[in-house]
Amino acid sequence: MSEHKYATLAVHAGQYPDPQTGSVNVPIYLSSTFELNGIGSDKGWDYSRGGNPTRDRLEEALAALEGGANAKVFGSGMAAITALVAPLHTGDHVICSHNVYGGTARLLDQVIQNYGIQIEYVDLTNLDALAAALKPSTRLVHVETPTNPLMQLTDIRAVSELAHSRGAEVSVDNTFLSPALQSPLALGADIVMHSTTKFLNGHSDGLGGVLVGSKPEHATRFHLIQKAMGGILSPFESFLVLRGIKTLPLRMKQHEENGRALAEFLSTHPKVQKIFYPGLKSHPQHELAVRQQKGFGSMMTLELGSREAVGRVLGAVKLFLNAESLGGVESLASHSATTTHAALTEERRQAIGITQGLLRLSVGIEDKDDLIADLTQALAAV
Ligand SMILES: *Cc1c(COP(=O)(O)O)cnc(C)c1O
Repeated sequence: MSEHKYATLAVHAGQYPDPQTGSVNVPIYLSSTFELNGIGSDKGWDYSRGGNPTRDRLEEALAALEGGANAKVFGSGMAAITALVAPLHTGDHVICSHNVYGGTARLLDQVIQNYGIQIEYVDLTNLDALAAALKPSTRLVHVETPTNPLMQLTDIRAVSELAHSRGAEVSVDNTFLSPALQSPLALGADIVMHSTTKFLNGHSDGLGGVLVGSKPEHATRFHLIQKAMGGILSPFESFLVLRGIKTLPLRMKQHEENGRALAEFLSTHPKVQKIFYPGLKSHPQHELAVRQQKGFGSMMTLELGSREAVGRVLGAVKLFLNAESLGGVESLASHSATTTHAALTEERRQAIGITQGLLRLSVGIEDKDDLIADLTQALAAV
């Protein structure tokens, strides 16, 4: 399989006909338990927390799409991040991008820190800051690039080289770009994480998460967490993600085209004080985006100056829906400070630049002229 190109992998990796029936689609194996051959002998599965045939196929597909050695899926993106840090021990040190998904910070600060694991937030766009923060006890450097919602990029190759030289692993939350637009393992990272809820599933109809490992040891490590902690993905949701990824390359082409068109349009709009989109030449890390990514995606954030202005736009949009989440076929708009970053204090939001005037857009795959017309009429309300 791995000799094939990306669009072929999306349709075929893990998605071969069922050997028993010839079913072209991977069947949904709704069985909690599996009949054994005899004592100590099974047909590959014994109980669905440890493994399920539908889930196994999804794991095979996701490993192939990220160019990894293995993949383990979980009940949500947060369950995947939980599995990433669950194998750590008291006294271990974790460095995390200072500007991450709010749920990641909530997990690390309100749960994981209580186990005596040290969490330190570092601006990973600054390699000197990373070098200073790395300690002998640092086990993991967790990168999110581009960040939510400010679209700051981290140089995955440079961070990986530095972290590896000091004995730490690097994990990358690749949710915002999907494996279609960024391949962290090829840039030197050890583990890729996704909320499959977003672009991979692509239809806003199921939650899920994945850890893709680059070494056989990662499969052992994360399978133990699936089995011991139990936060696994159901067979039905595994099927939904399998179906979603068949069209991932096609969807991402349209997301990319629409994202670029909307960013161009919004970058000169008088009501938009600032736009954060790595595809624009005005983005301070545009050159890194060109080097590290295969596209710029369809996530962007606007500074409209005030919470009131954001409220007016959200009240006026007709096609864009005022909803959290991202990566679905439909366009969404949301107020970052009270949705994805509600878990942070206002002080911490201000420290990382998340103002009350930010409006985040997840541009869908509708006709771009209709989306531009919708934002034109909505911005007139500001
Ligand atoms: C949504 C999201 C998560 C969390 O995933 P869930 O599936 O909602 O649990 C983590 N990281 C990023 C970047 C996300 O957008």
